[in-house]
Amino acid sequence: MIAQATETKHWSFHTDLENIGWLTINSPNGSVNTLSREAIMELETLVARFEDLANTQEIVGVVLLSGKDSGFIAGADVSEFDAMSDFSVLPEALKRTHALFSRIENLKVPVVAGIHGFCLGGGLELALACHYRIAVNDDKTRIGFPEVNLGIFPGFGGTGRSIRQAGPVDAMQIMLTGKMLRAGQARGLNLVDKLVRHRDMLRWEGRKAVLQHRKSQPAGFFKRAMAGPLLRDYVANKMREEVGKKANRVNYPAPYALIELFEQHGGDWQSMIRHEVDAFVPLMGSPTAANLRRVFFLSEGLKKQGLKGAKFSRVHVIGAGVMGGDIAAWCAYRGMSVTLQDLDMGRIQPALDRAKKLFQKRYKKKREVDAAMLRLTADPQGNGVPRADVIIEAVVEKLEVKQSIFKGVEGKLKPGAILATNTSSIELERIAEALQDPARLIGLHFFNPVSQLPLVEVIKSKFNSDEAIGKGASFALAIGKSPVVVKSAPGFLVNRVLMPYMLGAVERVERGESQELLDAAAVAFGMPMGPIELMDTVGLDVGKSVATELGHSVPDDSKFAGLIAEGKLGRKTGEGFYKWEKGKAIKGTTPAHPDLVALGRELVKPLIDTTEVVVSEGVVATPDLADVGVIMGTGFAPFLGGPLRARADGRA
Ligand code: NAD
Repeated sequence: MIAQATETKHWSFHTDLENIGWLTINSPNGSVNTLSREAIMELETLVARFEDLANTQEIVGVVLLSGKDSGFIAGADVSEFDAMSDFSVLPEALKRTHALFSRIENLKVPVVAGIHGFCLGGGLELALACHYRIAVNDDKTRIGFPEVNLGIFPGFGGTGRSIRQAGPVDAMQIMLTGKMLRAGQARGLNLVDKLVRHRDMLRWEGRKAVLQHRKSQPAGFFKRAMAGPLLRDYVANKMREEVGKKANRVNYPAPYALIELFEQHGGDWQSMIRHEVDAFVPLMGSPTAANLRRVFFLSEGLKKQGLKGAKFSRVHVIGAGVMGGDIAAWCAYRGMSVTLQDLDMGRIQPALDRAKKLFQKRYKKKREVDAAMLRLTADPQGNGVPRADVIIEAVVEKLEVKQSIFKGVEGKLKPGAILATNTSSIELERIAEALQDPARLIGLHFFNPVSQLPLVEVIKSKFNSDEAIGKGASFALAIGKSPVVVKSAPGFLVNRVLMPYMLGAVERVERGESQELLDAAAVAFGMPMGPIELMDTVGLDVGKSVATELGHSVPDDSKFAGLIAEGKLGRKTGEGFYKWEKGKAIKGTTPAHPDLVALGRELVKPLIDTTEVVVSEGVVATPDLADVGVIMGTGFAPFLGGPLRARADGRA
């Protein structure tokens, strides 16, 4: 029997016959729970009620659960940050939430959080304010602080409370990297106290935790000692060193501000919380945070593409080379049954060996690796074609070879199957000419290395229907990639914008400028890697063929052509513009330059010019899509919000 039920928009609450209070969050809009201002205000009212009920001993404890399948709470409502025009109200709002979470912590009865699925950002901060945390130990649970990816750090007291629970080194590591933990890892770090196997068990364990007055223990003495007065400076400097390898302070101030907060107050978790707001507010109003939020929304928007209800379980990949092999492995990793075809077994085996390495790296348990290997089958005869939901061709970049393959498979396809090519430069319409039904062929253009790059360009030929393209986008999403729809035009989006940028830098090297300086300038601007190092990474032969395809000329007497003639193709052969050792370019001294960022800006200008052209030609539907596509495909400075946004803001 249920007594004393209370309904608000975001929460429901009732007490049961044992006087346990059951609090459930179920945000009214959308499939995930967020801690919006409204949700927090409602929680304030509920907590006041819990205080009364606890005082009169009408409740013995509260169990907080989520009513959504997707998980516990995915964080604060990021769209509210964006809508905030006046950041001067932020300190007050944050202090109010701090006070609320402290009241939860100070309740006279135990409050227990039962976690399944996503428990991120503000959701984790709320869970950390509870007295005890139980999490479902399955594949879907993800616990962490992704705030740094939005240019901020936890602002609802999570900085201090995570340090209290996990100790300073581990807690700071999680906040600085934005890494999401699985339930077992979170248990190992003392962020949760108890694991259960199923979501159904959260209620039972929650009840036991309340009745037994279970209370989480803070991190032990040795862990805490790292925040003590003797070690704190050293630990903070080490953290700065690590962060400095990935992000510079000017472009990405949040991790540095967090380290400073720790340096000053990390010895006392409550003091850390007290000073959190002052350090947090300037970050929230910064252009970096605004741009990172924009990138977040744009990439979330990509996930809303595709056709509802499209299902894929079998994939057939033709061509087991660099790309085909890795696409097949990725699809198997993401749970698909995959058949992999090439001319003979000898050409397929290396791809299977690489796949095993990927699975071993990504999965913890041997049985998961074995299961993924069972999902990936060598298929030299192409027997998988008639059963496949998706067929992806990734053979050599030759029109006749691709056409003959598609002619061979067209008659064997199951109705509705996606037929796709991974070509990087041949116009889709030319390949499709060989088909009885040219409307069937779409492009799914993956990027190398497939396991690391999130973007898939879904290429639309003039024959394709929106439905065929929607299905392609759905497939990309089904394997965890981000689809951007691009018209079939030479170089599509990413190669088209990268090439003038890389060739521009190559030309400057040909004229005698220092490649080290140019690369350093591009990195100072905010690119993940300089253009010359990128050319070496892509491979000079690949670069030259894409350049030619796009109408750029590479003179025979150039250094670029000379290196190719000598077989110095870049990273893969151990030498290109640079010598390479153990996957790293060996660089000489970088000459001094008065304004590296300005030089970097000069270098990326052709990339931005070309992005504008691509949009004006309608190759990509909107400037926003171009921005997010270029960020995902090239790593273009996310803190600038994309090439077009950077130009509009006068920053590039
Ligand atoms: P690759 O040379 O490594 O592999 C091509 C494979 O196709 C070889 O294993 C070859 O044996 C096989 N093959 C040739 N003819 C075949 C046939 N008739 N039947 C079955 N298999 C056959 O090439 P790659 O770099 O993996 O490129 C493959 C495709 O992907 C190309 O269209 C390329 O433009 C595109 N692409 C490449 C990259 C990249 O960075 N390498 C990136 C994006 C797209």
